[in-house]
Amino acid sequence: MSLLTPAQAETLIEQHLACLPIESLPLTQVAGAVLRENVYAERDQPPFDRVAMDGIALLSSGANGNTGRMRVTGMQAAGDPPQTLADPASCIEIMTGAILPRGCDAVVPVEQVQRNGEFAEIGRKPVTAWQNVHRRGSDCRQGSLLLATGTRLSAPEVAIAAGAGMARLRVSAQPMIVVISTGNELIEPGETIEPHQVRRSNAYGITASLRQHGFTRVADDHVRDDESQITERLSFHLRTHDVLILSGGVSMGKLDLVPKVLQTLGVNLVFHHVAQRPGKPMWFGVSQSGPAVFALPGNPVSTLVCLSRYVLPALRAAMGQAPVEAQRIALTAPVEVKAPLAFYMPVKLKSDDWGRTSAEPKPTNGSGDFTSLAGTDGFVELPPGPNTFPKGFVARFFSW
Ligand code: AMP
Ligand code: MG
Repeated sequence: MSLLTPAQAETLIEQHLACLPIESLPLTQVAGAVLRENVYAERDQPPFDRVAMDGIALLSSGANGNTGRMRVTGMQAAGDPPQTLADPASCIEIMTGAILPRGCDAVVPVEQVQRNGEFAEIGRKPVTAWQNVHRRGSDCRQGSLLLATGTRLSAPEVAIAAGAGMARLRVSAQPMIVVISTGNELIEPGETIEPHQVRRSNAYGITASLRQHGFTRVADDHVRDDESQITERLSFHLRTHDVLILSGGVSMGKLDLVPKVLQTLGVNLVFHHVAQRPGKPMWFGVSQSGPAVFALPGNPVSTLVCLSRYVLPALRAAMGQAPVEAQRIALTAPVEVKAPLAFYMPVKLKSDDWGRTSAEPKPTNGSGDFTSLAGTDGFVELPPGPNTFPKGFVARFFSW
């Protein structure tokens, strides 16, 4: 059987993922969440003819037929109910955000007004109807769609929902995720380490990425390369989590026990291996009881690449987030791809004087070399080789 391409692997993952349940949250807690209902305008926006400058409100035809000297008959602040203009030769002192007083159709800003006792002098400069008035309904009409289901909620969307009068929003529940590292050689940061041992770094990288992308329910575990321990821990996590993200133990070694154990625990294999470098041994399956299992190769560059290439998009899809347009960026230097496998090249993004972005290749010393990733922004996906992709070649970009 020929190996899957990354796009085929991505499609298979999407087809096997269940959508996460919906929960209702107060507006203060929805930043970064995915909206699972439509939000419509509660009222016209603005809801009334809104005064856009501090100054005086008047009737333009009245002011234009006058000497430029208007009697001030009152003051109306934002939040006050509307007053009524007494006659075309008078005006009302007015504040930004107030409703336009009845009988008025224009606002002259305070900078253009000289106050003289009871009178406001505005000179001979003509006043245009509706100047400095934000007309009712000019932004949107009552009942129009403001936010569609599937929208990820950032600052503007949360403000829009508040403006529409929504105290709570229906959003995707956060998945319960567990990050599980495997390997006898791995030692926690902070603990004493022997020359033949390795720091347990993948779990920290994965958790950092998940948190950075707004996933908050993230547990952490470690298992030794021991069949009964792996079986016991994975069986527990399959009962208590929606998504398992493992690293290591999925290659061809004698102690790469993860695929075998997963299958005995009733996790159905969807695919093992993708035609890519790094990250070829990636394993994905779905448990008969529901949870999805991403078993990522243990080499640190492979782990992070597979996480950003497959796991993060899958989690976004499971939360019902509308697909985002793929980002494509030109290379600043040629890249040689030797193997007939899709190739992931770490890159640093650069901006020229015109704000155009390009991707500077930052090769690593193999898939074990994660120190070279410091300061990179993500990676580009290049088609299988052998081939040399020239400077200016436009490739799909994935951020960490
Ligand atoms: P494996 O996929 O288990 O054969 O691991 C491949 C390589 O990645 C080995 O050199 C492991 O020591 C290393 N590795 C596996 N898991 C981790 C981890 N959590 N942190 C750092 N390195 C790891
Ligand atoms: Mg291992």
